[in-house]
Amino acid sequence: MANSWRQIQRQNFTSWGALALFLELDPLLGLPNPPFPLNLPRRLAEKIEKNQPNDPILLQFVPQQEEQAVTAGFVSDPVQDLRFRKEPKLLQKYQGRALLVTTSACAMHCRYCFRKNFSYETSRKDFSQEIASIAQDSSLKEVILSGGDPLSLADETLQDLLQKISSLSHIERIRFHTRFPIGIPERIDASFLQMLEKTTKQVFFVIHANHPKELDQDVLLALKQIQRLGIPVLNQSVLLRGVNDNIETLQTLCETLINHGILPYYLHQLDKVEGAAHFSVEKTKGKELIQELTKRLSGYGIPKYVAEIAGETSKTPL
Ligand code: SF4
Repeated sequence: MANSWRQIQRQNFTSWGALALFLELDPLLGLPNPPFPLNLPRRLAEKIEKNQPNDPILLQFVPQQEEQAVTAGFVSDPVQDLRFRKEPKLLQKYQGRALLVTTSACAMHCRYCFRKNFSYETSRKDFSQEIASIAQDSSLKEVILSGGDPLSLADETLQDLLQKISSLSHIERIRFHTRFPIGIPERIDASFLQMLEKTTKQVFFVIHANHPKELDQDVLLALKQIQRLGIPVLNQSVLLRGVNDNIETLQTLCETLINHGILPYYLHQLDKVEGAAHFSVEKTKGKELIQELTKRLSGYGIPKYVAEIAGETSKTPL
């Protein structure tokens, strides 16, 4: 019998020593015990070229010495999540939408994550307080399930959450923000698909891929099963130095997405979280890349290049 996604997740690399050995890399290249621990699904590790310290997948997930550098302007909470916390697990930044921080757990740990220092509420498993708050606010039309990664939750927990949100008449849409299928596409199993199919509100599924190597046939097949339910799948990326800050990579990424019916949604300017300055790309370079992409691809294949500026009423187009 095929392994369940939980069993597959247990095979993640969590020790730099073991990963360095697997990748035939010098152990001195990585940080052995960073505060935000290494967490890398085996599938992604297998995509990293051996003995290649500049591999674009490696750079996204392996804690490097550069993380210890202190850089002016790079802070603990760059998007000011704490300022917009309505309830312990509920954030509201924009009109009509609220974001549920469903869990602290992820399938993988991305080194540039803006929420890596977030003080997750973990003492309480349920979402009663947050659902009550959403129920009271009839200006809300959309609930975003984020985290961490909402697909880290057990199906029973997700099912209960989806039912409770769907029972609120003023909520019209439910959006998933997830990177899980990129590392563990087995998460999109029959039980998960059944749950989505039963959901009475319009669901949107937003994945997060930064490099075309992340999108293999198994990942795309898993996402196709979601699309077959009439659920739009979109992708957001972060512009990262050494990973996707060149036109060929961005073009291949966007083309792979649209060839599989996935819309490139956002290309985010890096959020200035501490320890991530080495990923930073100048905005002028980002704009040039988007201009070049616009020449090469159909309009629907171009992501919106945006920055998140705390206190603004939406993401800011660049
Ligand atoms: S999957 Fe998303 S929430 Fe989790 S570490 Fe990566 S960027 Fe952060």
